[in-house]
Amino acid sequence: MARYGTEESSWESNAVLSGDTVGLTEVRKLSEVAVSAMESGENERGGPAPSGGPALVAQRFDERLAPYLPEVGVGGEAALSQMVSAVSSGSVNPADPSCIAHLHAPPLAMAAVADLAASVLNPSLDSWDQAPSTSHLEQRIGRLIADLAFGHEHGDTLMTTGGTESNLVALLLAREHFERIRPGSMRLVCADNAHHSVARAAWILGLSEPVILPTDGRTLQPEALDRALDRIDGPAVVVATAGTTDTGDIDPLREAARTARKHSAWFHVDAAYGGFLLFSERYRDCLEGLHEADSVTMDLHKFGWQPLAAGLLCVSDRRRLRLLDVRADYLNADDDTEAGFPDLLHRSIRTSRRPDVLKVAVTFRALGRSGLGAMVDRCCDNTLEIAEHIRAKMDLPFEPNISTVLFRPSAVRSLSPATADHVVSETRRILLERGRAVIGRATLPAKQSAGTATRTYLKFTVLNPWTDTTRLVPLLDEIEDVASSVSERVRKE
Ligand SMILES: *Cc1c(COP(=O)(O)O)cnc(C)c1O
Repeated sequence: MARYGTEESSWESNAVLSGDTVGLTEVRKLSEVAVSAMESGENERGGPAPSGGPALVAQRFDERLAPYLPEVGVGGEAALSQMVSAVSSGSVNPADPSCIAHLHAPPLAMAAVADLAASVLNPSLDSWDQAPSTSHLEQRIGRLIADLAFGHEHGDTLMTTGGTESNLVALLLAREHFERIRPGSMRLVCADNAHHSVARAAWILGLSEPVILPTDGRTLQPEALDRALDRIDGPAVVVATAGTTDTGDIDPLREAARTARKHSAWFHVDAAYGGFLLFSERYRDCLEGLHEADSVTMDLHKFGWQPLAAGLLCVSDRRRLRLLDVRADYLNADDDTEAGFPDLLHRSIRTSRRPDVLKVAVTFRALGRSGLGAMVDRCCDNTLEIAEHIRAKMDLPFEPNISTVLFRPSAVRSLSPATADHVVSETRRILLERGRAVIGRATLPAKQSAGTATRTYLKFTVLNPWTDTTRLVPLLDEIEDVASSVSERVRKE
């Protein structure tokens, strides 16, 4: 008889710690429960996404799981089983070929399990005494990624929560760098194709109004960059993109680097998407000029197939990381540092920090550079094939970049621009609400002659190396069918 509550609800019988003597046995048992729950949730969903749309998905979830904080708990096994199966049945599955909207990668099984190990061991990378081996591992992996990015050994890499944090820290480093060598408030210069997190980082840091350059519709124009930098009388940070979110476009990095250098600006490349073309012997040349950057954002939760999160910020001169130095006696006292205990606090703007490096290290060791390169190649090659197939039946505005392809169903060809946009958007929503497919959308500037300023496209982002033409043909047919019936309906209205 337990001392508190009933046997099942006693906190003492449920509060087994993962690292306790009996902990790993419990972890093994509960992992089995969670995996079975994922299987049953997956079967229940039976497709890439839950059907019914936001209200119904929320309602089903509440009916199953409320109250979320019961007065008396149900126990670990029951809670895991109920919660994980409900979450799984209500999730989208990025490993399904029809889940193809975003830079939302299907994670590798081994990386997901490495994340479980990271959670059980729970090292925290804010001090060596909480993370003796993972802090070392992070340094090793960080240096090798920087070597890959810059082609020399002076760089280093910080692990972040993703491209958003990486871009923020890059701008922070640039500002602190100039603070010490060149007075005046730093201006951000980027093209209008830059990720929203870039202007947001400038906002968070309180920088003055960014200079946003118009593109030629796709990529940054080096001459426009040159003219903009001419007009800035003070320090500047230039941000170019390698793999835009909407179109996968890569800015002309070499010219941008040269222009930035001419004006003594900090050159940052947001390669959150395209950075790991570096793994590929065939595609890495697309990143020519990347090695001239002062800092580079990359995301291993895109190409890299890591569970969230696995963001990176590479810096070409690791001494500059000292700009993030901060002293907290309980974590990095001077006498500890002098005695040889690594000071880790300047490796992040966070304090407590997960060892995201563990899953990355497992993946690198398991697949090697060539294995990862082959996965990148496969995604890019498959995208080209898929585009060929689309071109034969639908409308393709331009050749795909990296692994992104934009298109419109042929059913909208004869519609007015506004109506066509409407049909495209609705087609995407219908497939999502039916749980049939998760497809992206992108809005592009229209060609000069067209009536409205922008056009809406459907978007495939191929991050699944197993997604090929064969698997996508049925989806393309279904998209065309839905678009065609929506067009019919709209015509009659
Ligand atoms: C994904 C992406 C980001 C944002 O990265 P998160 O990991 O989502 O924070 C920034 N820039 C580009 C170009 C991206 O593709």
